[in-house]
Amino acid sequence: MLPASQPLSDLTALVPAPPGAAACNGAGHCRRLSLKEAREIFQSGRALVAHAAFVAGRMKTGATRPLHDVLELFAFIRPGRPLIPSALGLARALGLELPQTPEASSRALFEVSLRLLDEAHDLPAEAKARLAPLAGTLSRAGWRWGPLLERALGEVRQGSPIAGLEAWRGLPHWEDEALAGTPGSLPVTTSEARARLNALVDRPRPEQEAYSDAATYAFGPREESGAPKIALVEAGTGTGKTLGYLAPASVWAEKNGPGLWISTYTRNLQRQIVQEIAHLYPDPDERAEKAVVRKGRENYLCLLNFEEAAKRTALAPGQRSVALGLIARWISSNTDGDISGAGFPAFLAASLPLSEITDRRGECIYAACPHYRICFIERAIRRARHAPIVIANHALVIAQAAGDWLATDQTSDTPPERRLRYVFDEGHHLFDAADSGFAATLSGREMAELRRWIRGPEARARTRMRGLEERLRDLIADHEEAQHALEDAVQAAGSLAGEGWMARVTGGSPRGPGEIFLAETYNHVRARSDDRDSFYTLEAEPHPLGPDTLRAVAELSRSLKRIAQPLAQLAKLLRQAMDEKSATLEPYTRARLEAAARGLDRRARLVLPAWTEMLDTLEAGEISDDFTDWFEISREDGRNADIGFERHWIDPTVPLAAEILEPAHGALITSATLRDASLEGEDWQSAEVRTGALHLPQPPRRASFGSPFRYERQARIFIVKDVARRDPDGLAGAMRELFLASGGGALGLFTAVKNLRDTEARIAQPLADAGIPLYAQHVDRLDTGALVDLFRAEENACLLGTDALRDGVDVPGRSLRLVVFDKVPWPKPTILHKARRIRFGRSYDDLLTRLRLKQAFGRLVRGPEDRGCFVILEGATPSRLLAAFPEAAPVKRCGLAEAIGDIRDFLA
Ligand code: SF4
Repeated sequence: MLPASQPLSDLTALVPAPPGAAACNGAGHCRRLSLKEAREIFQSGRALVAHAAFVAGRMKTGATRPLHDVLELFAFIRPGRPLIPSALGLARALGLELPQTPEASSRALFEVSLRLLDEAHDLPAEAKARLAPLAGTLSRAGWRWGPLLERALGEVRQGSPIAGLEAWRGLPHWEDEALAGTPGSLPVTTSEARARLNALVDRPRPEQEAYSDAATYAFGPREESGAPKIALVEAGTGTGKTLGYLAPASVWAEKNGPGLWISTYTRNLQRQIVQEIAHLYPDPDERAEKAVVRKGRENYLCLLNFEEAAKRTALAPGQRSVALGLIARWISSNTDGDISGAGFPAFLAASLPLSEITDRRGECIYAACPHYRICFIERAIRRARHAPIVIANHALVIAQAAGDWLATDQTSDTPPERRLRYVFDEGHHLFDAADSGFAATLSGREMAELRRWIRGPEARARTRMRGLEERLRDLIADHEEAQHALEDAVQAAGSLAGEGWMARVTGGSPRGPGEIFLAETYNHVRARSDDRDSFYTLEAEPHPLGPDTLRAVAELSRSLKRIAQPLAQLAKLLRQAMDEKSATLEPYTRARLEAAARGLDRRARLVLPAWTEMLDTLEAGEISDDFTDWFEISREDGRNADIGFERHWIDPTVPLAAEILEPAHGALITSATLRDASLEGEDWQSAEVRTGALHLPQPPRRASFGSPFRYERQARIFIVKDVARRDPDGLAGAMRELFLASGGGALGLFTAVKNLRDTEARIAQPLADAGIPLYAQHVDRLDTGALVDLFRAEENACLLGTDALRDGVDVPGRSLRLVVFDKVPWPKPTILHKARRIRFGRSYDDLLTRLRLKQAFGRLVRGPEDRGCFVILEGATPSRLLAAFPEAAPVKRCGLAEAIGDIRDFLA
């Protein structure tokens, strides 16, 4: 029983429990409420919840009055601490008994809140004095926890309307150091690698030692220019890959200096590698110095954007101010500024678009920024330059190689040197990462972005983005020629699609060449589609073009050239100015000039020429052997999101090999699912085709290691023959019964969002009645990472997601014991896929599908004690696809009833 005098006694704690919610009052009495009753309490503003946006979604209601959200209180009292965003997660973070039912969860919300308020009350006087101004500011902004915290911390007279939000004050400066120099080429022997492995792992198994030996090849000295040492090493789950390659990699880095990049596809693995590196550097300070995580700029908080958002928000108190206040707490928590990291309160994205506080639009002003010397991005870049081991992701590695400095290190006065050794973990994703990284898109969004970069915001000035004119004004004040070039560029950019372009383009009133081209594209795609109002993205081959579209293409091409020319001229003049004044130039002015010139060059020499080339080949009617072109209306949740012209490499491993692998001296490409396994046996060629190794002069060294798991005992595979998949009731009924048979711990994967939603609507309540919580992508207002965290935290929870979700699910143990595919995950027959099937042969479909099944199956058994079942609800699953599964795993084709019985017995 909770004390009646507690400060939250007039609140009702709500935890969604289909069809309504579990509710608990301040005296500790709990009951179930219908959806209507729960919604009324929620809307009254008297609710105590964990994750207001998520609960609003479950209550089927939109924005509401401010609430007591316990996640916010946690973010204020314990900033920067990782948290699973639920009552269970809060209880776990505070070391309380874990609630097992929705009622217990709602009661726990009170207990957690009171503990946190007590914590605030017990803070040392100095900490209270530091926090009180922010509590006061947030109180005035309408934050429900504000008055309670003011009582706990002590009220203060406010001097500034943003008191406490100025979290940038007191952040440490980064220091520049001399460049680390080029890495050496001293070899790593297998005995050195083995010795290291033995130091990292208590008695490594022979497979892990053999894996480490195979990985060592990639750290040998390159013998011929353009012929890196490539090791393709496949190792089944459980081999101990990470430490297996960290052994030779760390020896190499110690001998040769900084220059080793370990790259992953998912954030999960990035985090896992950071944890494993603790074996290598147990001392946290040494670890922080020697192994640095590097992400793209868009992942870091921009302090200048944050400051401007805080100042704007002082004029408009509300939930945005609350979000900024809590982000201010996070900034002061010794963070590295990574908003995609585990300690960032990601639930705040519901109140504040995170794009407002990051540098996504290339508007960084570098040395001219008052926060330059404390900037998180600048700090991360500098740390990475000197760290022996950099942990990055494929997208960043490719963006750097593609010359996309804007997305990477534009700040530097020397471009980042080519890194000489790579480890590509999750190497099976290199093809897809290269596909996006080397593609070009000429769309409404991209044009509007470029126009804003050049001309600044033209409709509403919600951001500090000011356009080239204001950013360069003082730099070219005495340079007439540069001023003319700037005026020409600003004027020419008026031909690009501008703010509000989508409504004009789809409404038939486009303005200027950019929007006219988009309107033609829009009509072209709709004319060639069978279902022009489809829920999903539409696409069409561009050829043949109608006369109006041809005219629009030619006109836009001319317009783009008119923009590129003055931008290039301006970049040239800025560089000239740097040369001429090199003796007298202040370092910060030089850095600004350099950054400005580089930003101009990127647009004038990379982006705009790529667009005009696309348009020119279209106008000429040329069809390239290397690329696939198409027009697209991209849709998100049935609404138009973008319209444009796409160009992708048919084989994106051609630029991958040329830009990344060839210049490197060595690369280990590793994964549990590198090779396809057809009925004819394991296929190394598929691994070489999909990683780019095929395009290199020297063949890769290959090795493979099976999983140590006993699949005959640990796994069962069922192909269910009698489910009426096309009937939403039939599909949902099958999922429900399977999930009940496993007692939860199930992941349902769908190939279409609509089927996922239909199923969720039908099974949420029966599962809840059986005490099984259900979470669903595209339904719950949570990001994928939070969904997976919730799923992982609750042993009997179930999760529905699209096929792509499988990459982000790493859930060892009983929390994941059943994976169900609604059908065979064949690739979508897109224009791009069609072109690739012609290039790689008819078996390409099978290859992709087998790899997807192999990856999904790999989620199921992560440890020697795990047991799991894998189900495909499609009787027509061809036998040739079954080679995707380990040979030892028994496969059964049967009816649903039999599968349910077997699963129940197997997982009992
Ligand atoms: S240097 Fe650039 S990214 Fe860093 S805080 Fe300033 S404007 Fe933002």
